[in-house]
Amino acid sequence: MSEAVLYVVATPIGNLADMTPRAVEVLQSVSLIAAEDTRHSARLMAHFNIKTPMISVHDHNERQRIDRIVQQLGQGESLALISDAGTPLISDPGFVLVRAVREAGFRVVPVPGCSALVAALCAAGLPSDRFIFEGFLPAKTGARRQLLEALAAETRTLIFYESPHRILASLEDMLACFGAERFVVVARELTKTFETIEGQALGELLEWMRGDTNQQKGEFVVLVQGAPAREAEALDPEALRVLDLLLEELPVKQAAGLAARITGLKKNALYQLALERRG
Ligand code: SAM
Repeated sequence: MSEAVLYVVATPIGNLADMTPRAVEVLQSVSLIAAEDTRHSARLMAHFNIKTPMISVHDHNERQRIDRIVQQLGQGESLALISDAGTPLISDPGFVLVRAVREAGFRVVPVPGCSALVAALCAAGLPSDRFIFEGFLPAKTGARRQLLEALAAETRTLIFYESPHRILASLEDMLACFGAERFVVVARELTKTFETIEGQALGELLEWMRGDTNQQKGEFVVLVQGAPAREAEALDPEALRVLDLLLEELPVKQAAGLAARITGLKKNALYQLALERRG
């Protein structure tokens, strides 16, 4: 395997002080930086005195850029991939490139840092042991509602990215699919001046946001508490008896696994229920 490396480098999601020293060092040392938008990233480069040349790699030219990047790696030159903000590939371009570079036999090295979804999750106060990241919801209401319906019984914390011009419409569709009582946290403008992390029952949260247009501005992560595991109980009361019996003898994970095999219910739902019953 060649010594040349493609570094996948996270950059700040607002506050430039979140740039890691390792990110600066790597970006200064590589031969070329593949950036989602070179003009946007020029400001970051200037701030950190990074003079490395950049080329654009975005959704529309990623495949064409691969040959050039693989060729440069073949000549022993290391490169870095960045996106406009946060971690590349997370609702950002880069997956096709990373896969191609690995397939060509070169090393891909992560240089971790910010990602809005992790920043939001660690401050939201929602269960974080298991979660689903859904990225951006579909732009059209029909498709959006269809997806949300499919997620309504999901017991894990749900995480979405949202833009200011769709935040109200998306929350309204969530209300229709998840109900007004579901607890939702909106994390807005993380690491920036107007950072706001607000959690309320969805009905109240929507009212609060409708009442303050400032809260509709900026960048958003929406986190939705998972459906209560009790729904499994409602589906089949017998499952609860089975689970309780197994919990008397077995650890939570094993009890939930066995109960799932006996009852045919989802293991994850039974696991959540088992955790609750164990207190
Ligand atoms: N790659 C990025 C990451 O690692 O988080 C995400 C890029 S995606 C194109 C941009 C979306 O991320 C925004 O529309 C918003 O939903 C979310 N986002 C990015 N920065 C944010 C911030 N400072 N506060 C809240 N959400 C943010």
